[in-house]
Amino acid sequence: MENQEILVSMVIPAYNEEEAMGKVLDDITRVLEPLGVWYEVIVVDDGSTDGTVACCQAHPNVKVITHGQNRGTGAARTTGVRAARGRYIVMTDADGTYPAEAIPQMIAELETCDMVIGAREQEMGTVMVLRSLAKNFIRLLASYLTRTRIPDLNSGLRAMKREVVMKFLPILHSTHSWVSTITMAMLSNGYNVRWIPIAYYKRIGRSTFHPVTDTYNYLSLVVRTVTYFDPLRIFLPLSLGLFGVGVIKMIYDIFAYNFHLAPTTVIILLSAFQVGAIGLLADLIVRRSKL
Ligand code: UDP
Ligand code: MG
Repeated sequence: MENQEILVSMVIPAYNEEEAMGKVLDDITRVLEPLGVWYEVIVVDDGSTDGTVACCQAHPNVKVITHGQNRGTGAARTTGVRAARGRYIVMTDADGTYPAEAIPQMIAELETCDMVIGAREQEMGTVMVLRSLAKNFIRLLASYLTRTRIPDLNSGLRAMKREVVMKFLPILHSTHSWVSTITMAMLSNGYNVRWIPIAYYKRIGRSTFHPVTDTYNYLSLVVRTVTYFDPLRIFLPLSLGLFGVGVIKMIYDIFAYNFHLAPTTVIILLSAFQVGAIGLLADLIVRRSKL
């Protein structure tokens, strides 16, 4: 296999997934073999303390990379991407939630775009109501910020061109936010991202998603990633909003205090100006660093 060009590198982060690991690997082999392309399967064991690694050893064609300790799902994804040699990288979870059957179509679609994301029709995560409320809010915010309808921001099943992923590795986090950040980063930089609908299964074993910490991280990364690549999208509405409030307050002052502006009015108008100026400065920095 060494001398052939590898087309697909499967990258699977795994932390204590002994219950599902074997089935996930069987399913992948079953769908990839008939394609007749060169591929490799990389499992990144993120410091598992159960039989995850032993499950992989039953599959001789699987390469296992072990983190000495638990470093987070994003860190495991980065390790996998660094080790991958294929033109395309396909990621899935080791928990049996994503359908391997979707992978061939995703690989085919990658011929004409930079990333294909499996959009889950329905989530079956833990803490359902709270989690889906927060996720939908963030997804809509991300859609507005990137000017793109985003059906699923953080699906774990995705196929990407390796050379494009490599560009963004330095800004990707070690946590659950890795997948959402790369979605936002590619959209903010004009890469072609496509979604295909997929089924989503009930998880085997327990999720490592923390409702509070991960939601907070998730929201902050959406805002930060856009500030990083398209700052005016954040600063301009903030500045215009403040300006609008300032103008209304000014009109009120003119009538109520006989043309005497209250200090708060002046402060609001000045803040509008400053937020706008910071936005322009940030925009300038982003544009210059792209030259
Ligand atoms: N994972 C990992 N390191 C961790 C936590 C999770 O490698 O510290 C793996 C986990 O085994 C799974 C994937 O990352 O394959 C996504 O994690 P999980 O399914 O728990 O998150 P969810 O899909 O519920 O957001
Ligand atoms: Mg999962």
